[in-house]
Amino acid sequence: PLTAPSELVLFGSYLSKQFPPSLGVPEVAFLGRSNVGKSSLLNRLVNKAGGETARVGKTPGATASVNLYALLSASSKGGSGEGKPILGFADLPGFGYAKLSKEIKESVEEAAERYLGRRRELALGILLVDSRRVPSADDRAVLAALFDMGVPIVVVATKSDKLNANEIEPAMKSIREGLGLPDGQPLRVSGVTGEGVRELWRIILDACET
Ligand code: GDP
Repeated sequence: PLTAPSELVLFGSYLSKQFPPSLGVPEVAFLGRSNVGKSSLLNRLVNKAGGETARVGKTPGATASVNLYALLSASSKGGSGEGKPILGFADLPGFGYAKLSKEIKESVEEAAERYLGRRRELALGILLVDSRRVPSADDRAVLAALFDMGVPIVVVATKSDKLNANEIEPAMKSIREGLGLPDGQPLRVSGVTGEGVRELWRIILDACET
């Protein structure tokens, strides 16, 4: 069984156009348009968890790859440095989202689609949308693609701290209806205040434990 998030630390990233190597543990894929707050959320998830200042950065070339992060149990720290991975985070930058040159976009989508469609370790897809925006056609297309590929999915609304108390419910309703989500979604998260991070960990661990 998976250990609690407090025992997770960010290990590293794999940057390659090839299919990433298997870590032999369940993986969670993160998707969303650029600037949605993905790096901030990933850092929040990991830093909160490990209590360390781990940085999920913007690696040059990362837009054209599937980036796989391994999370190690904290107890393996201080050993050989090659601790046992217990969870993987896959960052799929740009999947389904335009803005890249046609050529790059195609290779990104190919890699991401291959990953999403065939990755046995994949336990959950997390689609990030901005709390303050009406979902785009791209968001709907990504969600439909995940559904078609049979990927379990949860939608999170990022930057929730930017909404005031009166704005929250209408904004969540607009996202829920725009994407056809069930009650309870999207989950509100903030990389700044940490809202929703604990709940998201629960969802991640539940998905990975089945
Ligand atoms: P990415 O491109 O999806 O990885 O987005 P980043 O995490 O780099 O965030 C894009 C911008 O939004 C940066 O200026 C962040 O400081 C800001 N941002 C990200 N998450 C939050 C959040 O939860 N709250 C607020 N207020 N700003 C955020």
